[in-house]
Amino acid sequence: MQRAANRQDIRQYARQGYVGQRSNRRVRLRSTRRSSRRLWSRSRHQGAKLAVALLLAVVLVVLVCLGWTYLPAVFGHWAAPTPANMSAPGNEPGTEPGTEPGIEQSAQPLSNAQDFATPLSVAELNDTGFVQLVNQEHSFSAELPQHVLQTAYPTVDALSEDILVHATALEAVAELAAAAYQEQVGSLVVNSGYRSYSEQAQLYDEAPDKSYVQQAGFSEHHTGLAVDIELLATGGSPAAGDSFSQALTDEASSMEEAGEEQARRAAEWTAENAWEYGLLLRYPSDKQAVTQVPYEPWHFRYVGLPHAWYCWKYNLCLEEYLESLQESGGYQVTLQGRTWYVSYQAQAAQDGVVYIPEGLNYEVSADGCGGYLVTAWN
Ligand SMILES: [Zn+2]
Repeated sequence: MQRAANRQDIRQYARQGYVGQRSNRRVRLRSTRRSSRRLWSRSRHQGAKLAVALLLAVVLVVLVCLGWTYLPAVFGHWAAPTPANMSAPGNEPGTEPGTEPGIEQSAQPLSNAQDFATPLSVAELNDTGFVQLVNQEHSFSAELPQHVLQTAYPTVDALSEDILVHATALEAVAELAAAAYQEQVGSLVVNSGYRSYSEQAQLYDEAPDKSYVQQAGFSEHHTGLAVDIELLATGGSPAAGDSFSQALTDEASSMEEAGEEQARRAAEWTAENAWEYGLLLRYPSDKQAVTQVPYEPWHFRYVGLPHAWYCWKYNLCLEEYLESLQESGGYQVTLQGRTWYVSYQAQAAQDGVVYIPEGLNYEVSADGCGGYLVTAWN
């Protein structure tokens, strides 16, 4: 009993003690708060000053950090539409290509909802020719309407003032060049565009190495949709222009030079990012067996979206792309906020009819192999 009572007492004492401690703590807290209030009230002015100073310091540090990172890009952007012969924005090496929005997307089979059902006579349609295959087996025999051609300069930097490019391709190249400049890749320069039959014939006759030059009638340059691009040397010296060709074909000998290292990076960046502007690296190093043309890091062909994206995403050259479409019949994909529908119509040339969708924008191009590609978007 005694023990039990003691235990009870102990518990009671403990409870009282606990309560007491709580009370004491309350008292202590209250007194601390009072003294804090006093302290705060005494030093409210100094405290406020200190807080404001601290905040300003933090803001200053953040601004300095941000400025360090982004100012060159911002200035680059302001200077983006570069006139010819303007120097690149410094010797900084090209920045990383960054996130690749297109890599996440994948092509889906054409949904039934998008009916390509409205017939259109091939004779009446406006054939853009954007995906027309021109290679050693597929000649370009059409007469290119001259009004679609435009002088490359001053829309983009060009090595000569009389270089002509298809207006749609030129717009794409200009956007690509502006992006390259903004990304501090360097100043891209067009050194060749449209070529007439006779110009190509002369070029072929005079070329010591004919592996890079096609015979007249079989060059993509006849379409006006192909451009050869190189990098204007940093420092703006045109005589020292490091071309993509030098940088990528003479790999072993020329890599020591910083300028050529930059050209190599620029060529890589361009190959990786050109699709966003509808442009295609036409002769990749791993496709020589298909294209019959050696690696040409400087030669880009406008095919438009989503075709350039598809080739980039699935690592196909134009020959392989058209072949895959002949099998699949088409696809759809959402890119840059738009859904694109591509319908391959193998019988179009034979039947003289293509089928277009209702209620969508569309473009039609012969593929040069007897079929037509209808590209629609919302
Ligand atoms: Zn070329």
